[in-house]
Amino acid sequence: MEWEPVIGLEVHAQLLTKSKMFCSCPADYQENEPNTGVCPVCLAMPGVLPVINKQAVEHVIRTGLALNCSIGEFAQFDRKNYSYPDLMKGYQISQYENPISYGGWMTIDSDGEPRQVGITRAHLEEDVAKLQHARDGAGAGYALMDVNRAGVPLMEVVGEPDLRSPEEARQYLTKLRSILQYIGVSTADMEQGSFRCDANVSIRPKGSTEYGTKVEVKNMNSLRAVVRSLEYEIQRQTELLESGGSVSQETRGWLEDRGVTVSQRSKEYANDYRYLPEPDLPPLLISREWVDEVRESLPELPDERLERLQRDYGLSAYDAALLTANRRTADYFEEAVAAKALEGEALQARAKAIANLINSELARLLNMAGIELWESKVAAPALSELVDLIDDRTVSSTQAKQVLEEVFETGDRPRKVVEAKGLSQVTDEGAILDAVREALDSNPQAVEDYLGGKENAAKFLVGQVMKVTRGRAAPAVVNQLLEEQLAARKL
Ligand code: ADP
Ligand code: MG
Ligand code: ZN
Repeated sequence: MEWEPVIGLEVHAQLLTKSKMFCSCPADYQENEPNTGVCPVCLAMPGVLPVINKQAVEHVIRTGLALNCSIGEFAQFDRKNYSYPDLMKGYQISQYENPISYGGWMTIDSDGEPRQVGITRAHLEEDVAKLQHARDGAGAGYALMDVNRAGVPLMEVVGEPDLRSPEEARQYLTKLRSILQYIGVSTADMEQGSFRCDANVSIRPKGSTEYGTKVEVKNMNSLRAVVRSLEYEIQRQTELLESGGSVSQETRGWLEDRGVTVSQRSKEYANDYRYLPEPDLPPLLISREWVDEVRESLPELPDERLERLQRDYGLSAYDAALLTANRRTADYFEEAVAAKALEGEALQARAKAIANLINSELARLLNMAGIELWESKVAAPALSELVDLIDDRTVSSTQAKQVLEEVFETGDRPRKVVEAKGLSQVTDEGAILDAVREALDSNPQAVEDYLGGKENAAKFLVGQVMKVTRGRAAPAVVNQLLEEQLAARKL
């Protein structure tokens, strides 16, 4: 029997606001000393009252619109009751029946084809404190608590169970992250914990229209971990069902080092959250004027930009997808292209050259250094200058790579690097001809081999010319002159 995975993701994204969700403490807590950004509200002292952060509400409206959701006219906050040491109040203010936005969709890349997948809802809640577990000298465990994160605005985006493979889950997360970054509501940085994913997965016989029993997997802090944990879960559930067992509905945790999921909580022990409307907050009446204003302020979204880059610059879908995945990469690309006023084919050729540099050579350097494009010393205009140098044949493609490496290290301008390192190529035919003659004269055996039909000997001779010119001869000119000279010796 063939099995089909069914996956639905729940994503928690911290929102980019100045202050927390219900008090005026700073929401940007990452760099702060523990327990410095706190007040009676987020410490949950008795008698305090929450005040709604309007910016956070607007961020969720913005997200809802970007995800083609409806925006509720009447939204409400609810108390979600459970007790855990990181939950200061003993309940979390969240949204249950009347979320800010619901019923949307987005497109993901499914095997090279766009596919539409459903978004159930995007609602607003608050983050919890951070616990750090430690052991004392005698080996007894204890926990340290940092309340800075408690009350930071958190948006939950719940996806429909529309995904059919771990790879689609990766595409979904990549796209969602990209959209949140484009619209400026979250840094959506998984490693920093501002974009967290719980993955729900079940399997069913292929062709079936009913869903199987799902398992919820938690604890993944990278895209790779999400994909691996889903692969593991699909395999585990398949083996269970094929050996006559059944999947039990439960929450499982992903153990990164062991590459397995383990049971954390079964259905019988599932929380009963006893949701109730938050009595300390009024319902949110979201006016249509506000929604229209937010809609109008939406920037170009990743899908639109992807299409525009292909249309305006003649880029391939592949190149455009790499460039638009992150808004800042796309901005960088467009800044580099705009550094020189060009039109038509010249513009497209330059765009292609710049896209190639960003997606291959520069990507390689960034990857090795473990930094992002916008953290690098290579300014966008410098990339344009490098293309100038390639276009006017000052440097060969090999030299261009060396120049880029140097610019990457030092931040110097490409022209300066070329001068300082003597990296320009020799295109002067007279000088190269001398080198070709010298190479042929001092390697009679290779010449004989070549004339005798050994084509490979030409490569050796090219190498010899390069040696004579210390690698600076323009390859195209070398090839052409060498061919002419060899042909002449044939006669
Ligand atoms: P819960 O009440 O356990 O949170 P929900 O029905 O609200 O469950 O769904 C939570 C998430 O689980 C959603 O992202 C949804 O797409 C996904 N989901 C629901 N049913 C299934 C299923 N049978 N298989 C896989 N994912 C599912
Ligand atoms: Mg859930
Ligand atoms: Zn506070």
